[in-house]
Amino acid sequence: MSRVVLATRNAGKVVELRRILTGVELVGLDAYPGMPEVEETGDTFAANALLKARAVAAFTGLPAVADDSGLCVDFLGGAPGIRSARWAGEPSDDAANLASVLEQLADAGEGLRGAHFFCAAAAVVPGSGERVAEGRVDGTLLAAPRGTNGFGYDPIFVPVGETRTTAEMSSEEKDAISHRGAAFRALAPSLAALLRIGAREGSRTPTPEGTGS
Ligand code: IMP
Repeated sequence: MSRVVLATRNAGKVVELRRILTGVELVGLDAYPGMPEVEETGDTFAANALLKARAVAAFTGLPAVADDSGLCVDFLGGAPGIRSARWAGEPSDDAANLASVLEQLADAGEGLRGAHFFCAAAAVVPGSGERVAEGRVDGTLLAAPRGTNGFGYDPIFVPVGETRTTAEMSSEEKDAISHRGAAFRALAPSLAALLRIGAREGSRTPTPEGTGS
């Protein structure tokens, strides 16, 4: 089974994505403690996911996957978007970010509270190629938080067709509809194809003469 490195130090994310990316040995960056932080300098989710996956593939020499996600609020012209993690400034603080979005939405009436979570997932397989897939979940934002599951903006986000926030759902229920789940489910066949190409190319690599291998 091919080892694939997921660009995260979050053990929960590794467990979540092992349920989606089956057929590979998925490991997190805890297995590679020397890997430096990657600066997310891209101006799209896809660019940042690719930056992270390329950096991990270059550092480990192994196939890598990475994601970048965030909340895009219609009333705020798509913000906080790629700046979701640090919307209220450094260091990243979920509660402060959520409070900041609520304050900025104070003047948005009913019908103007549309938003979506967006995720880009990238796969980079050395010697084989790279792919990006995207997923989103649409919904509306409440004026006050509800629920204690999840993280980030979950306590104010109600997906279309739901009455609960994503912070009031179980993690399995959220996985089934989430932007991250959709992006990685869309990426899975491309990753499998890249790994097959990599395995074929690898088996064609000429061996040095006289090694007998
Ligand atoms: P990351 O790219 O997955 O690290 O997410 C960046 C930021 O977007 C997080 O710090 C959260 O603020 C927000 N975010 C992304 N996905 C979710 C989610 O599923 N629920 C709530 N907030 C999220």
